[in-house]
Amino acid sequence: MSRRPYIAGNWKMNKTGFEAEDFVFALLPQIAGDDIAEVVICAPFTALSNVIDSSRGTRIKVAAQNMHEAESGAFTGEVSAGMLRDIDVRAVVLGHSERRQYFNETDEALAAKVVVALENDLEPILCVGETDAQREANETEAVLKTQVETALANVPAEKLGDVVIAYEPVWAIGTGKTATNELAQEACAFIRSLLDPGAADKVRILYGGSMKPENAAELLAQPDIDGGLIGGASLKADDFAALVAAGDAAA
Ligand code: PEP
Repeated sequence: MSRRPYIAGNWKMNKTGFEAEDFVFALLPQIAGDDIAEVVICAPFTALSNVIDSSRGTRIKVAAQNMHEAESGAFTGEVSAGMLRDIDVRAVVLGHSERRQYFNETDEALAAKVVVALENDLEPILCVGETDAQREANETEAVLKTQVETALANVPAEKLGDVVIAYEPVWAIGTGKTATNELAQEACAFIRSLLDPGAADKVRILYGGSMKPENAAELLAQPDIDGGLIGGASLKADDFAALVAAGDAAA
């Protein structure tokens, strides 16, 4: 694989600042060897500074789990890209299915967010994926096409390679039901086929949905799967270290 593997842990609404630091201190010695895969921790807003300060100078990159597309203004409860950069956040998850499902995140808002993230030097991790009902109705490709093409519509061609896309079938998130290697590969290859040919080879496409140390190597061996976005199994330092090792081995 010529693309650098990308292993991202999505903590969701878990861990206080103190717990986040504990995690980093437990993880660092276990991932100190090979700096092959990129290691990303997507922490809740309140723990971002803890992860940043306790991992400075290491291979850990810190990501937020959402941001608002406006620079500033009357958006109570929201955080802007500039605010994230101000504390040295370097990436941001956009369009996670939980945000689409519970917080009305739309493809149109995502189209603005992706561009604003790139303008602020934040690496967007754009999440896409079909629900169980959509897969049953044979709508998977149509759903992925709309989600990818709408969210990336305003990205300048020369910036497309900086976007990371996570294919996360909604039915596999937090359910313990992992997509088969073949199904995950097929969807990731389809997503790559939607991208501008000039950048398609550069874009990292991750699989997310009950990835864990036991199934990571096989998923990461698929030609169009460049890494993982991992929820549950990223909460324990030992499990996440094993996933990083699988990413290192997949290069
Ligand atoms: C996620 O939150 O993006 C995710 C894939 O969760 P889990 O690994 O727990 O399925």
